[in-house]
Amino acid sequence: METKARAMVLEKFNEPLVMRTFPVPRLKEGEVLVKIEAAGVCGSDVHMWEGRDPRIRLPMILGHEGVGEIVEMRGEKKDVYGTLLKVRDKVLWNRGITCGQCYFCKVKMEPSLCPYRWVYGIHTTCAEPPYLTGNYAEYLPLVGKTDFFRIEPKVDLQVLVPASCSGATAAHAFDLSRMESGDSVLVQGVGPLGIFAVAFAKSFGASQIIVIGGTEERLNMCKTFGATLILNRHKLSKKEREEAVMEVTHGRGIDVAFEMAGEPDAMKESISLTRTGGACVSAGFAEPRGTIELDCFHDIGRKNLRLQGVWVSEVRHTHMALQLMLSRMEDFKKLITHRFPLSRANDAIQVMKTREAVKAALLPHP
Ligand SMILES: [Zn+2]
Ligand SMILES: [Zn+2]
Repeated sequence: METKARAMVLEKFNEPLVMRTFPVPRLKEGEVLVKIEAAGVCGSDVHMWEGRDPRIRLPMILGHEGVGEIVEMRGEKKDVYGTLLKVRDKVLWNRGITCGQCYFCKVKMEPSLCPYRWVYGIHTTCAEPPYLTGNYAEYLPLVGKTDFFRIEPKVDLQVLVPASCSGATAAHAFDLSRMESGDSVLVQGVGPLGIFAVAFAKSFGASQIIVIGGTEERLNMCKTFGATLILNRHKLSKKEREEAVMEVTHGRGIDVAFEMAGEPDAMKESISLTRTGGACVSAGFAEPRGTIELDCFHDIGRKNLRLQGVWVSEVRHTHMALQLMLSRMEDFKKLITHRFPLSRANDAIQVMKTREAVKAALLPHP
């Protein structure tokens, strides 16, 4: 059995992560040790590295998206589909751990809102046992409450790494959207969240999938996933974008707009392009990014607007994202544009920061 594992540690904000070695803890009953095959580098990892996320405590091991192989387990454990897990199984796991006891978990059945929810590689520090608490590591012990998805050996496991974060959050947005088959959909933002939204819109039967973004390659990737109209905000003015949307929606506007950019201007534009009685669903804001001004009569009341915020996700959404990905593996293979060994985690953060990468992944055992 492994007794030591290397991990990339965030010790000071805005300074390179440092490679450190930690003891692999002895597992407690119900715990599972995974050998990380790929760790996703999320846009929010960049924000954490910059010190913009109030949830974190230093020193810490980043990485809340992971896939890997079970190398050790204590006690019997099944995945969410009822399959008994065993050593050498390939797995994806839900990133959040919730209490299962509180008002949100028990009464409202919205565990994503559990005030005790915590996530590997976000709310965890490596200053104390079990030290290894994020996915930027060779091994990760997972607590007994972790929800697993066993993945068939023939599946390209690395491709699935975004399912547990951007995929699941986009699934949550669709879950809350009350979108109907045949609806027109707008997606604002072309990061992984926006790309997943396009793929979900397609699978939910959207009649129009209009995408607004600023990067030509990413907009083209959205076309692969089913976008019917792409609008580059660097090439078209706000007025031109509005005209283009009205032209394909019989002058009514969008049935359901998904704000996946995390930019106040994109939020404002999404609301203005939504039709009377339509819905605007916002999942792009993972941190405070500023405010917008709304005309309460025109923008909300008279418009009968349904405005829906989305915060993180729960296990049913990871299931939705996983199944979506499994149904379109050839397309989703294109999402991870950059792969690095663990020792180059700092380069991975840089290509995410500059948006050179759509999605970067770390491979601790290349
Ligand atoms: Zn994430
Ligand atoms: Zn709870």
